[in-house]
Amino acid sequence: MIRLQHNVVHRPRTIDDACTLLAEYGPSAQLLAGGTDIMVLLNAGLLQADVFIDLWPLDELRGIDDLPDSLRIGALTTFSQILRSPAVERFAPALAAAARTIGAAQIQNRGTIGGNIANASPAADSLPVLSCLDADIELASVRSRRRVSIHSFHTGYRKTALAADEMIVAVHLPKTRTDERIEFYKVGTRRAQAISKVVLGARMQIAGGIVEHIALAYGSVAPTVVRARAAEAILLGQYPSPELASRAVAALDRDLKPITDLRSSAAYRRRVAGNLLERFLRKALQH
Ligand SMILES: Cc1cc2nc3c(=O)[nH]c(=O)nc-3n(C[C@H](O)[C@H](O)[C@H](O)COP(=O)(O)OP(=O)(O)OC[C@H]3O[C@@H](n4cnc5c(N)ncnc54)[C@H](O)[C@@H]3O)c2cc1C
Repeated sequence: MIRLQHNVVHRPRTIDDACTLLAEYGPSAQLLAGGTDIMVLLNAGLLQADVFIDLWPLDELRGIDDLPDSLRIGALTTFSQILRSPAVERFAPALAAAARTIGAAQIQNRGTIGGNIANASPAADSLPVLSCLDADIELASVRSRRRVSIHSFHTGYRKTALAADEMIVAVHLPKTRTDERIEFYKVGTRRAQAISKVVLGARMQIAGGIVEHIALAYGSVAPTVVRARAAEAILLGQYPSPELASRAVAALDRDLKPITDLRSSAAYRRRVAGNLLERFLRKALQH
């Protein structure tokens, strides 16, 4: 334990120790991973915490395991590690693509996937990819280990299913097959160092000429990631065609009620969401 100004900072060496500290301090403790979100809040005077639990030395939380059907990515794995991983490039290339767009090298070297998930920003770039992959989040506490689907993990604007004594230990990604197309598209104010206006994580498999599997997940258009279920339903089980693509784009009206905020208007976001889907379908059908 060390003291930083008026704060106490604990540096647990195992996941069990971190969970014991969380159980002891509960909501008055703040987990600290790469610090790229927390330091901004602290500098702006927007975060009050007496106790920090610094996970950075906790190597048990780092690394990417290539399992038979899935990738298990430790919560403390940075975006630099993700974008350099051959296993991610092969089985979840859209996550590597998302990692490449997160801040610049300094942020990628410190920012972690666990921090991106827990911070629960509507503009977090990894989340649409995790949604289109139907990822699971692995949580730990002194009470239990449990897995929660990404679809139920984010419960509202910056709200999550994490209990006060729980932490994220890993994310599990089912492996994509070689005949699947998976893409990540991000539209921001500029190509680098931009907060997203619209993000799409999209995945499609065609078998016997018909759409066998489709997943379309939009970020930055609502308080949490939105799966475009109406557009997915139009595409599923059908022979792809330009006419089908147009109907899927039109169905986005039922899926998305984009927000207007400082970064963009609702009308712009709706138009861009349609353009990104068109781009994905054109690319996927050429495959
Ligand atoms: C200049 C700049 C540019 C950025 N650009 C982007 C961008 O392009 N795209 C994007 O998505 N984000 C961006 N970010 C945001 C940030 O870098 C990411 O959200 C990053 O993934 C946060 O990870 P971290 O390890 O730094 O989290 P931290 O700041 O350490 O923590 C963030 C939150 O997550 C919690 N937390 C961390 N780890 C865990 C865990 N294991 N279990 C439970 N809770 C945990 C913390 O308590 C805190 O509430 C940017 C930030 C900056 C400063």
